[in-house]
Amino acid sequence: MSIAENVAALRGRMDEAARAAGRDPSEILLCAATKMNDAERVKEAVAAGVDCCGENRVQELLQKKPMGAYEGKPVHFIGHLQTNKVNKVVGQVELIQSVDRQELLDAVNRTALRMGLRQEILLEVNIGEEPQKGGFSVEQTLALAAKMGDYPGVFLRGLMAIPPIPEKKGDNCNYFTKMRNLFIDIAGKKYDNVSMVCLSMGMSDDFEDAIACGSTMIRVGTAIFGARHYPT
Ligand SMILES: *Cc1c(COP(=O)(O)O)cnc(C)c1O
Repeated sequence: MSIAENVAALRGRMDEAARAAGRDPSEILLCAATKMNDAERVKEAVAAGVDCCGENRVQELLQKKPMGAYEGKPVHFIGHLQTNKVNKVVGQVELIQSVDRQELLDAVNRTALRMGLRQEILLEVNIGEEPQKGGFSVEQTLALAAKMGDYPGVFLRGLMAIPPIPEKKGDNCNYFTKMRNLFIDIAGKKYDNVSMVCLSMGMSDDFEDAIACGSTMIRVGTAIFGARHYPT
């Protein structure tokens, strides 16, 4: 199957999942997770109509961007971001989805202020409370959202989560539901410097459940590009 065929099939499944949940399919955006795919393949996905692209590694972002890989669509950063690479990402992407620790939030805020811009971000939530994973706890996320007025270099646009790898289909519904509740809770508070428009959750294996539970953006790699071949 070509990338275009995969995207078309994915759109069909997204629409069906949305309708089954009584949601308008246009509420849910498709972010192509482009790691390990070269600029040509990313261009194919963009041409096939994905809503945005998400890169995991700074080096890949900086390589593909000058080649016009994302042209016509926004590019997001979705991977672990080292503090010493923040200055290479701020202002280069529309949205940093993976702000997963206080130190990174501080660095993004400072860097954006120095550059004279306002970087849109999501807070990444460690919704499965997995010790090996980054991300804020639910309590930390609530507390931070209330203080976003103290970070004029960023603009909080929502939340992102990567729940535990499910053992079987449906296993992540409770995590997705917790995320939606947190998202709605923060949105209802009308905090300064916060506009909760994006709830980024769901990947190739669980996006239908994520859509059923309120996701507004799924991040899909394998189901668009096929299996990734990691160098050995
Ligand atoms: C790779 C990746 C995805 C997509 O994963 P697939 O299972 O290939 O769809 C989504 N989000 C993040 C943060 C990723 O790194």
